[in-house]
Amino acid sequence: MSQQVLLSKSLPELTTWVENQGQPAYRAKQLHQWLYAKSIHSLDSVTVFPKQWREKMAEYPVGRSTIHHQTVATDKTRKYLLRLNDGLIIETVGIPSSKRLTVCVSSQVGCPMACNFCATGQGGFTRNLQAYEIVDQVLTVQEDFGERVSHVVFMGMGEPLINLDEVIASLESLNQNVGIGQRSLTLSTVGLPNKIAQLAAYHLQVTLAVSLHASNQTLREQLIPGAQNYHLDTLLKDCRDYVKTTGRRISFEYVLLAGVNDSIWEAQELAQKLKGFQCHVNLIPYNPVQEAPYKRPSPGTIKAFSEVLDKMGVAVSVRYSRGLDTDAACGQLRASRLPVT
Ligand code: SAH
Repeated sequence: MSQQVLLSKSLPELTTWVENQGQPAYRAKQLHQWLYAKSIHSLDSVTVFPKQWREKMAEYPVGRSTIHHQTVATDKTRKYLLRLNDGLIIETVGIPSSKRLTVCVSSQVGCPMACNFCATGQGGFTRNLQAYEIVDQVLTVQEDFGERVSHVVFMGMGEPLINLDEVIASLESLNQNVGIGQRSLTLSTVGLPNKIAQLAAYHLQVTLAVSLHASNQTLREQLIPGAQNYHLDTLLKDCRDYVKTTGRRISFEYVLLAGVNDSIWEAQELAQKLKGFQCHVNLIPYNPVQEAPYKRPSPGTIKAFSEVLDKMGVAVSVRYSRGLDTDAACGQLRASRLPVT
């Protein structure tokens, strides 16, 4: 059951809470503003509240984490290790660019999907995050940069569709409370049976990114052990249905691993499967991970793979990850520093 904290609550929910505390309803509006726009960590700092009440409520759980450790990459990407209320550590990344501030959030502590090229997947699974713990990550980055977050991608630790209820609640809160447009929220998944249809039923305008990484089931289940009970053909059918239901285009992620999934015939096989599909393929040249034996393909191979897709009518781009030198790039996230107690 969700812990009762203030963060992620909507204005009507805050109004009920404020009234239950014997305070006038208008205080909920103030609280909403201080929670989401001023990123408070304690009710004690809400100076518009009467001093006596503030002091009495100083220990009431707001739901904020603390920054356990932070690194800044040469490209200005900031990686945070955040300590949750139960002492567990998760990773969050703030990625600035000229017009955007993107946050890459975690949806679980660890991940059970066990993808063998991903540092998080190799580290095992501990627990799901609650909605407020996802919203907190965005506020932490917003506060640290002193700038509004414009985009959020669920590409940190974890598989969001395993934790669908809390992830949906966090998407709604990020949209309605933090004020980030639904189209600027991206959920990335390896896909799980029936879950894509469940997500579609919410009719959200968020962007769905599906991690494919292989053009056939045999190779896909070698790379993603968690994909064994979900055939690639079923996944792609569910993706087509998702596009029909939501009217939104899907992004497919494809990590390019040298000599493993980067051949011309695999590009052709992929293009064949995606023919006539309203989608976009993001090729992600592999980022080195200590535990994995893979290598990044040469620029020539990456270009050749991308050209096959392009020529066969599939929209494609190559995405070079940010934050490589601090292990903050895709697949490198891992709570490497244990908390000091
Ligand atoms: N579990 C979700 C969310 C994590 S997203 C998912 O898999 O989609 C992380 C993205 O980075 C995914 O597309 C993932 O496959 C990719 N990734 C993982 N390890 C990587 C690595 N070492 N190099 C490049 N991309 C990687």
